[in-house]
Amino acid sequence: MKAVFILEQGGVDKLIYGELPDPTIEEHEVMVRVGATALNHLDVFARAGLRGVKVNFPRILGCDIAGEVVQVGRSVTRLKPGDRVIFNPNVTCRKCEYCLSGEDNLCSQRKALGVDLDGGYAEYSKAPEENAHKIPDGMSFDEAAAIPLVFMTAWHCLITRARLKPGEDVLIMAAGSGVGSAAIQVAKRFGARVIVTASTDEKLAKAKKLGADEGINYSQGDFSEKVMELTDGKGVDVILDHVGTSVWEQNFASLKRGGRLVNCGITSGYKVELHMGRLFTRNLSILGSGGIGTQAELMDIMKLVHRGEFHGIVARSFPLKDAAEAHRVMESRNFFGKLVLNP
Ligand SMILES: [Zn+2]
Repeated sequence: MKAVFILEQGGVDKLIYGELPDPTIEEHEVMVRVGATALNHLDVFARAGLRGVKVNFPRILGCDIAGEVVQVGRSVTRLKPGDRVIFNPNVTCRKCEYCLSGEDNLCSQRKALGVDLDGGYAEYSKAPEENAHKIPDGMSFDEAAAIPLVFMTAWHCLITRARLKPGEDVLIMAAGSGVGSAAIQVAKRFGARVIVTASTDEKLAKAKKLGADEGINYSQGDFSEKVMELTDGKGVDVILDHVGTSVWEQNFASLKRGGRLVNCGITSGYKVELHMGRLFTRNLSILGSGGIGTQAELMDIMKLVHRGEFHGIVARSFPLKDAAEAHRVMESRNFFGKLVLNP
């Protein structure tokens, strides 16, 4: 089959478009003909060897996969050829204390598609049956591929970790990012007032179309001052951050007393200075959210996808052979939503 894979980590020139054997499935697995695979910063980290992401070679990248089932293993009962599905990127052991308590995103044996296992930059891809979730009949593979990682991440951060409540003020970093575009939809669905940041007014306008209530152009100065103006000097209840170092001070200054900051990414860096005095006197919570999200969360997300309440936001699609160009655009951050590849 045609695939894009790496034989070593490095620049975009390490993405090889060529032939690899078709995958073969075990009895509990399903194989899909990949319709679309969405890019994530994780792909860039896996390709470039950044943020400690290690892979074995050859490795087919791509953790967000949508496609049509073409083959099912002997013990598969829930799916048949012709079904249209997305994959949960997390392949887990189903046996450890985390898996058995519903925290499968923390599974000690967790393997991510496109990082620890071959992913979606290929004509065919496979995963265990339980990872496959049906998509609505009318939904394009491009839109479907734009859903799993960012919605699971946004849901796990806002709902499971930060326990966002109706009426609360939430601040979402980088509205134009994949996680940002999903987080706006999740936070609005739960009745929060959504304040977003973005680098351009054009991105802020798109965020408002998705439901954001207020937008702050962070290229025009300290965004925490604007947050205070928008919240009568109180600050926000919840912050969803996936940016890290460059926004830490402003985020910390934007939290209301009793506020919760949840972080699920460090695209700008991971080291910060924490003022512990303010942490305890203001009753703040700093939360980590790793491992994307859980199967149960993805099932809840897909219910809302099937009801037409959540949408994958596709900025641009590329043919598979142009994966290197897609990675360049990904690194430029000059787009709103998700980039997808079509094998
Ligand atoms: Zn496990």
